[in-house]
Amino acid sequence: MGDKPRIVILGGGFAGLGAAAKLKHADAEITLLDQHDYHTFQPMLYQVATAVVANEAVAHPLRDVSGKQSNLRIHQARVTAIDLANRQVHLAEMEALAYDYLIIGLGATVNFFGVKGAAEHAFPLYTLPDAVRLKKHVLKKWEDADKNRALADDGALNIVVVGGGPTGVESAGALIELYRGNFVKDYPDLPAQAAQVLLVENRLELLSMFKKDIQAYAKKALTQRGVTLKLGEGVVEVEPTRVHLKSGESVKAHTLVWGAGLQAHPVTQTLGIELQKGGRVPVGLDLTVAGHPEVYAVGDIAWITDNNTHEILPQLGGVALQSGEHAGDNIMRQLRGKATEPFDYFDKGIMATIGRGAAVAQLPGGQTMKGKTAQLAWAGVHMALLTGGDSRAKTALGWGWTTATRKRTERISVDTEE
Ligand SMILES: Cc1cc2nc3c(=O)[nH]c(=O)nc-3n(C[C@H](O)[C@H](O)[C@H](O)COP(=O)(O)OP(=O)(O)OC[C@H]3O[C@@H](n4cnc5c(N)ncnc54)[C@H](O)[C@@H]3O)c2cc1C
Repeated sequence: MGDKPRIVILGGGFAGLGAAAKLKHADAEITLLDQHDYHTFQPMLYQVATAVVANEAVAHPLRDVSGKQSNLRIHQARVTAIDLANRQVHLAEMEALAYDYLIIGLGATVNFFGVKGAAEHAFPLYTLPDAVRLKKHVLKKWEDADKNRALADDGALNIVVVGGGPTGVESAGALIELYRGNFVKDYPDLPAQAAQVLLVENRLELLSMFKKDIQAYAKKALTQRGVTLKLGEGVVEVEPTRVHLKSGESVKAHTLVWGAGLQAHPVTQTLGIELQKGGRVPVGLDLTVAGHPEVYAVGDIAWITDNNTHEILPQLGGVALQSGEHAGDNIMRQLRGKATEPFDYFDKGIMATIGRGAAVAQLPGGQTMKGKTAQLAWAGVHMALLTGGDSRAKTALGWGWTTATRKRTERISVDTEE
């Protein structure tokens, strides 16, 4: 180690990578830590789980990033605690790392809101292992039922998706297409048309952050594709083969996908500061933690107030990327002896895809788009956001093949334990 300032970035998500990119020309020693050796593109995890794209389409080697940045080193290591007083980060697989500047971008994890049995039996969709696990589980249910028809009669092929936000809507839409487009032909001896995908949402509407016309479109598009909507309904208990609902109904289903809630990464508990709703780290307008001008929190883990609207910014990819970049810019200013600047979020709108030819988009001015045009916009934006040409090529291949043939060639399970 030399005498240069030590900058430690926690997390190689949108926020962490955005920060690292802005520090490319810093005369500093930068270390980026992530529990994985790859960056995960979360918005397309449901496409891995439903066999549209390969794992590598949504995961990009972090060392490709460090290869392009001579002041950056990467370690695959799990952060266990942050010691603000002693300016150190504790890690599971390495000695503690000291820092002069710290950027916390560890993202969020699933929140089961204490629903009985959810932690044990539900399938969340926040990491690549989550997506692979869900795909394997669903494929196994069909293979098992094909050998033992009684399982199908017991609801083994039914799936309950919890949450009517973009994650739940996108997952339910992709699952029903996998069911009706592929499994009906794959398993001619099973009652595949009777296999259900149910979407359970507490509110009476889907996609609550979108305008009414989009909400209505989403309901219609999912219903037409065969998803059973249970709105104004909630899950109260999850068992391996049954899902119990608020209304008292018990649904026969051996799979429950949880897309209903987030909480900040639990390492925030070690900071010893007062946290905001969902355990998020409150930051000032320049994204630093109060009393710690050397510590930034960015992305999903942070409670960021919009400098213009004074509202709390949502946990979105755009917010994560831009806040990470801003933290990087601010550290550059600090290294040059300048004052930090407040973060201005540039809202580019929100979008979601429901199925083939059916997507929705809402622009910052409030204009909405639906159907094929929105799907093209969705595809363009997601393609641009993917990290690396190889991930883009793999995604294009998966999308192109699925669109042309309706076949999902990724519907295979590879067991490394054999
Ligand atoms: C299924 C899904 C769909 C989504 N769809 C959209 C969408 O369509 N549009 C949109 O704008 N946003 C979407 N989002 C939200 C968007 O993906 C997040 O807002 C964004 O990824 C947050 O970026 P981040 O860098 O803050 O956190 P993350 O992307 O979560 O990155 C955090 C990083 O920290 C690492 N990490 C975690 N714990 C540790 C630890 N203990 N030690 C070391 N490393 C650790 C993780 O491996 C990860 O690489 C979606 C999210 C999900 C889950």
